[in-house]
Amino acid sequence: KAKEAGKNNCQFYTKGMNATAVNYLLLENDLRRAIEQQQLTLYYQPQVDLKTGEMTGVEALVRWQHPERGIVSPAHFIPLAEETGLIVPIGEWVLREACRQQKLWLDAGKYIGKIAVNLSPRQFRQKNFPGKVEAILAEIGLAAKYLELEITESCAMEHAGETINQLNQLNQMGMYLAIDDFGTGYSSLAYLQRFPVQKLKIDRSFIHDIHDDANYAAIAKSIIGLAHNMQMRVIAEGVENEGQAEWLRTHGCDQAQGFFYAKPMTAKQLEGHFRNGRFYFDGTVVRLENHL
Ligand code: C2E
Ligand code: MG
Ligand code: MG
Ligand code: MG
Repeated sequence: KAKEAGKNNCQFYTKGMNATAVNYLLLENDLRRAIEQQQLTLYYQPQVDLKTGEMTGVEALVRWQHPERGIVSPAHFIPLAEETGLIVPIGEWVLREACRQQKLWLDAGKYIGKIAVNLSPRQFRQKNFPGKVEAILAEIGLAAKYLELEITESCAMEHAGETINQLNQLNQMGMYLAIDDFGTGYSSLAYLQRFPVQKLKIDRSFIHDIHDDANYAAIAKSIIGLAHNMQMRVIAEGVENEGQAEWLRTHGCDQAQGFFYAKPMTAKQLEGHFRNGRFYFDGTVVRLENHL
């Protein structure tokens, strides 16, 4: 009944517009205010060296704490932000906040490795984007080598010529560059080879059934080989169990990220894993839950 009433309401306001679209508009209004009202936060998910189990860095993942709806997933609001252009201020906030946190950790002698930040296409395509990154680093006093930037494979390939330009400028500043969700887009290997990137991230859709599904295993092996032949590191995302981790280690994948090691967590929670001058998940591949 409530559902029907809701439906009627929507039809009253805007003919032909469904509840989802109205919902989206309401969300857009709220998103405009999310930054100034300090509703955005960053979570950090560790990346782990598959051989030593040691942490090599973290990926910063944005969270929106909506006053009524609770946590809204970035999978939901990032596309909205991208459509409306709000991604530009939001992305800039994320970048500045990640750099600020990294600088705090470094100043406290806590070396967590590189901090990886996701870029969305509209943000990355801004003509002055490399300049903006440079300004943020200068403002915060952070060296570029502590920062890693991720663009998705589909974003990278969409205007590959432009991508090369942007990536070259960022690379010259000393940043680490990664191609995210690799395997889901349509890569031109000719372009991939011209991108000055240091890392491929195998999309988690290939990792899930890696030890049962020969096709996924074949794809993952190819990506590992491709990365290494192009002098890049390779990381698997979405690693959820020991079987997947073992398979990846056996097949020469360098790093892993996923719930098996650690869920994305707040800066404070992450600091709970700091010992003897470094962050550890007990030296080898160990579930985070065992240490909480
Ligand atoms: P992504 O960059 O591929 O990030 C990895 C996503 O996989 C994260 O979802 C993470 O929580 C999730 N994940 C990590 N380990 C596991 C696992 O073992 N199993 C499963 N099933 N999932 C796992 P999240 O945080 O919801 O982010 C979703 C996407 O939203 C990200 O995908 C990224 O594309 C985008 N995103 C997040 N933060 C930002 C941001 O600050 N800027 C931009 N432009 N995009 C962002
Ligand atoms: Mg990412
Ligand atoms: Mg990814
Ligand atoms: Mg992904």
